Amino acid sequence: MNIPFNKPYLTGKEGHYIYQAVLSGKISGDGVFTKKCHALFEGKFGFKKTLLTTSCTDALEMAALLINIQPGDEVIMPSYTFVSTANAFVLRGAKLVFADSTDYNPNMDVTQVESLITPKTKAIVPVHYAGIAVDMDPLLDLAKRHNLFIIEDAAQAIDSYYKGRPLGSIGTMAAFSFHETKNIMAGEGGMLAVNDDRFVLRAEIIREKGTNRSAFFRGEVDKYGWVDMGSSFLPSDIIAAFLYAQLENLEEIQGRRKTLWDRYYKALRPLEEKGLIQLPYIPYFATNNAHMFYLVCKTLEERIGLITLLKEKGIYAVFHYLSLHASPFYRDKHDGRALPQSDRYSDCLLRLPLFYELTEEQVDFIADTILEYYKRS
Ligand SMILES: *Cc1c(COP(=O)(O)O)cnc(C)c1O
Repeated sequence: MNIPFNKPYLTGKEGHYIYQAVLSGKISGDGVFTKKCHALFEGKFGFKKTLLTTSCTDALEMAALLINIQPGDEVIMPSYTFVSTANAFVLRGAKLVFADSTDYNPNMDVTQVESLITPKTKAIVPVHYAGIAVDMDPLLDLAKRHNLFIIEDAAQAIDSYYKGRPLGSIGTMAAFSFHETKNIMAGEGGMLAVNDDRFVLRAEIIREKGTNRSAFFRGEVDKYGWVDMGSSFLPSDIIAAFLYAQLENLEEIQGRRKTLWDRYYKALRPLEEKGLIQLPYIPYFATNNAHMFYLVCKTLEERIGLITLLKEKGIYAVFHYLSLHASPFYRDKHDGRALPQSDRYSDCLLRLPLFYELTEEQVDFIADTILEYYKRS
């Protein structure tokens, strides 16, 4: 048996919609399917304004431009995250201030954040790891008191909720990813959700090379020109056509992923009860969008052993982020604080295969292999 870590799922309509987009004669950005995607996201999740981008990385870079990050500004984010969360702000000259993760899941420990705020702090960037919400209310309170922006890295968090509110609708802005490893995907793709009216017009301009082309096409101005800085962040309508086919099947995709997630959880729960591993923890304020199933081993050696055994059986399980505060690029710039939980997840967290076409039998086989490993050791 060979079980890959991920296999992108096709709903069947992707090719049809791409063909329609091609036949329409307009396949540059902001075509028919881009508008359909925007309408669906805004309607279903209540984001004030959505703009498809070529990646979540791009959406994060747009957010950094929009809140006008300047050299020396400080941005607080978890160390246990993807490099794009950090790069977007580093590109504008920001200093990163890393928060540690909680001991119960890899999300940032919001109780530490206040002590990291200085007069130079401009933004907090919570990352909803595995699609499970960061505790947002304390962050919103801090943002209000210290006049900070909150940029949600919601790359993994589509269709997940915090106290009933969709993730990505809570911060000033949010960035989503439609990379092929995410629940809803278009190969490469992303989206900026803007929840604060003050940024809506400028977001359109920055995405369109600093021009007011979007307003021009709506007939709001009689000619368009260069009005601000910007770049090219919008995807072809072919990407949007692909994405739309996925979005139409959102519920079915999420349902299948949750079924598989629950099956893993039930099978591996006895190991957690014995104190041998740690499983994902979903706080009372959060929902599970089944983006990822992971377990946390006790040591790095134990994780290496488990990866090896799984690989022998044809199962591809993979670790995840290396703490950014300890990375070759940033360790000299980090303020030196130890971040033990982030390091623990770097060394010990293991992600298991989870994709639409994974079967129940495969989940059982993977879980049995893990149970066998802990019987042996
Ligand atoms: C996937 C991911 C990104 C980057 O998404 P791209 O669309 O590949 O740019 C950023 N942050 C997190 C937390 C991610 O999981």
